[in-house]
Amino acid sequence: MSKFDTHTTYSLNDLGRVDFGGTPLAVLGHPIKHSVSPAMHNAALAQMQQLNSRFNDWNYFRFDVAPEDLAEALPLFHKHHFLGLNLTIPHKVDALNLIKGISPDAARMGAVNTLVWDEFGYDGFNTDGYGLKSGLQNDLGASLKGATVVLLGSGGAARAAAVQCVLDGCKKLYIGNRTPERLQNVMDVVHAMPNGELAEAFAITDLPTNLPENGIVINATSLGLKVSDPAPMDVSLLAKGWKVYDMIYNPSQTTLLKEADAHGLATANGLSMLVHQGARSLEIWSHVDVSSHAMMTAALHALELPPRYD
Ligand code: NAP
Repeated sequence: MSKFDTHTTYSLNDLGRVDFGGTPLAVLGHPIKHSVSPAMHNAALAQMQQLNSRFNDWNYFRFDVAPEDLAEALPLFHKHHFLGLNLTIPHKVDALNLIKGISPDAARMGAVNTLVWDEFGYDGFNTDGYGLKSGLQNDLGASLKGATVVLLGSGGAARAAAVQCVLDGCKKLYIGNRTPERLQNVMDVVHAMPNGELAEAFAITDLPTNLPENGIVINATSLGLKVSDPAPMDVSLLAKGWKVYDMIYNPSQTTLLKEADAHGLATANGLSMLVHQGARSLEIWSHVDVSSHAMMTAALHALELPPRYD
């Protein structure tokens, strides 16, 4: 058996061929080569190992798993005692039918990104909503509680964000999307929650006209992933008290953020969301508090971005 290397992108064939050490963790996705999660988690683990020898044999790996292989993959990871798994595109929804338990929040969000091993199988959690609320707090000093939120998008990330907004007690939630059917799906989920009636749908090209002086825009569309993408909404319609959070972190400044910046609004990209969802996953697996600082430094380094000092 060969010894592991945390920089390698592994495949299912490597399970049983490579010694992944005492307590392996991994992210599964497709594609996965450019994931910064191994850098983030191994940086946090290195810090945890200095404080507690229990974590000395913990390591985090990346595996490329095609969608059609996920059903075969999860029992294999379970057999090889992978204590924790992160799931990313395209596995977050498909895994729901392949695990033994799911947390109530993840069930509402309709997706899992964190799996925890026990002897009978994996239990699923979703830390994206937590990552979002921590990112908003950290980067923009913005709390969802009592806030007016304009949420753009109705995919998996938007659904997690919408559920988190309602759970955290936002005052009003406007959700806009290009495709009405997907928008309706998210509205149905939110309206089924206690206080869900505070959510209102709008067509993404037709921003509500009665917005207050301040609030939070959250972009959960994929518009902005290409540098040439236009902004998904016209931020010049917003009063100066608004804050704009784009879940996209690569590129680090989308057209939406550039335009919001030029309009004088406070802005932040989604790197803090990525870091905080990762920190929360590691807390679920380890049962200790995890500092997001080492993870942020590692993520910036992996993305070849300058360090931050906050
Ligand atoms: P998804 O399920 O594929 O949803 C994509 C969303 O973008 C849909 O609402 C889609 O609208 C909308 N969209 C795509 N192209 C558009 C266009 N040209 N004009 C207007 N809307 C458009 O993706 P997802 O998993 O929810 O992820 C959404 C974004 O969040 C991605 O950029 C992803 O990288 C980011 N994200 C970041 C984090 C983080 O930790 N920072 C975590 C998760 C996701 P339709 O319904 O009309 O197609």
